[in-house]
Amino acid sequence: MVDILVKNAFLRKFGRLCDILIRDGRIVKIGRVEEKAELVIDAEGGLVTESFVNPHLHMCKVYTFTTIGEEALKHYHGEMMSGAMTAIELASRIKERYHESWIYENAKKAALEALRYGCTHIRAFVDTDTKAKLEGVKAILKLREELKDILTIKVVAFPQDGVLRDPGAEEFIWKAVEMGCDEVGGIPWIEYTDEDSLLHIDKMFEIAKRYNKDVAMLTDDAGDPSLRTTEMLALKAIREGWIGRVTACHARAMQLYTDPYFRKLVHLLKKADMSIVSDPHTGPLHARVRELLSHGVNVALGQDDIADAYYPYGRNKMLEVAFVNSHLLWLTSLADMDTLYDMITVRAAKAMNIRDHVLEENKRADLVILNVKSVYEAIWNQVTPRYVISNGRLVVENEEKTTFHIK
Ligand SMILES: [Zn+2]
Repeated sequence: MVDILVKNAFLRKFGRLCDILIRDGRIVKIGRVEEKAELVIDAEGGLVTESFVNPHLHMCKVYTFTTIGEEALKHYHGEMMSGAMTAIELASRIKERYHESWIYENAKKAALEALRYGCTHIRAFVDTDTKAKLEGVKAILKLREELKDILTIKVVAFPQDGVLRDPGAEEFIWKAVEMGCDEVGGIPWIEYTDEDSLLHIDKMFEIAKRYNKDVAMLTDDAGDPSLRTTEMLALKAIREGWIGRVTACHARAMQLYTDPYFRKLVHLLKKADMSIVSDPHTGPLHARVRELLSHGVNVALGQDDIADAYYPYGRNKMLEVAFVNSHLLWLTSLADMDTLYDMITVRAAKAMNIRDHVLEENKRADLVILNVKSVYEAIWNQVTPRYVISNGRLVVENEEKTTFHIK
């Protein structure tokens, strides 16, 4: 591994130009660096930050939109998300065709897109149930292994169609975790009764406890204010001592909660040190991002989907996710933009329980070198990084060229 010296980097924290010396995968010095390095990159005053992190991606389904069609999407994006359950039922048809080989090819394309745009960490939800069986798991575990030195993929064994509703899914989750999945998933809101939702969470925690795994679930993903699985999950995390180890994605019903109940939920989320990953661009309802942040809850943004049954766009470009959600969440002041940037870098890393993702000395060298001078310009233009450094290696170099033929 060659030493890398990044010169003239503009760092958010210091608000001035610094040099960054990288050796053996780590940042060894920030400031004025006199030492020589085999590879010198001149950032030319451009912004240099932590690389981007995507804490929620359905990686086994990427690029299936044209195959599955738009029927599910119409239900998912319907008014107040009242057809979310129907959408999931329709979307599950793709799994009749599930095979490791094409899932692997699609996921690899998405992984390379992530790297191109400076995203070095992905939490990959992989359908693991009686329809998908272990096809997605095999594909994504293979990809994780292949790219492990340059892209961190945390694989979540995810029972997309429920645990009680899909008898047999539980056994596949056990198997998937034995095969090496990193986290245990869940989607408790999809069960028919609250009792079953609780049982769903209990069953998944049993696996998480047995293998000492973090937990990431999709909660309350429909326009029904009576959905309470974010609360159930937080309570379970507290009772099991899984503090800082549990994430809830979506939690969209939160938007419809009364204020007293919302306050109680915030209290539980903080007690559990539980992160919320929101994806307002993939459905018409979303968690109360602004309020959660003001109460001190960790919130991150995820890509969620790339061209699948639920969402037609997406390219693992987290600056695009930040840009779109700047509008949907009305986060448009300069301070808001800083928060948006955190939600696709350091906050997203916290939501994945990655502790050393911060641009500081002695930390792992995962960073992007941009051709703009500020967070504002980065989000405005959704820039493609000039250079991406992952795990101390230069992994991507992008060039942009426009020639104006005008007089
Ligand atoms: Zn999702």
